[in-house]
Amino acid sequence: MDNCLFCKIIAGEIPSSKVYEDDEILAFKDINPMAPVHILIIPKVHIDGADKLNENNTDVVSKIFAVAAKLAEEFKLENGFRIVTNVGCDGGQTVRHLHFHLLGGKKLNTELC
Ligand code: 5GP
Ligand code: ZN
Repeated sequence: MDNCLFCKIIAGEIPSSKVYEDDEILAFKDINPMAPVHILIIPKVHIDGADKLNENNTDVVSKIFAVAAKLAEEFKLENGFRIVTNVGCDGGQTVRHLHFHLLGGKKLNTELC
């Protein structure tokens, strides 16, 4: 999609530090890490956010969670980790392309909001 930062990263128009890629999914390091491990996992197809998921486009979400588990093992998050997706203005979503934050490598703040 035009003017979508993460679509530009997928297209290689903006560089990123990739940690996983397949036909449907890309994972790369967050530019502003909030934890020792902070990876963004995104579908290559543009979906605005979790509010735009439906029965026709959720298959990729289960695949994203499988990739998250694989990356957690690779990055040695054996003590645990967190997966977060922000939605819309109140949810704090700044990039309107569905993405899941994989956070770990330290004891995370337990406050959800
Ligand atoms: P959100 O706030 O939408 O849930 O998360 C967007 C995330 O994208 C933020 O954590 C932010 O640091 C990250 N981000 C924004 N621009 C870039 C970029 O150009 N490259 C990378 N790797 N991450 C970015
Ligand atoms: Zn996009």
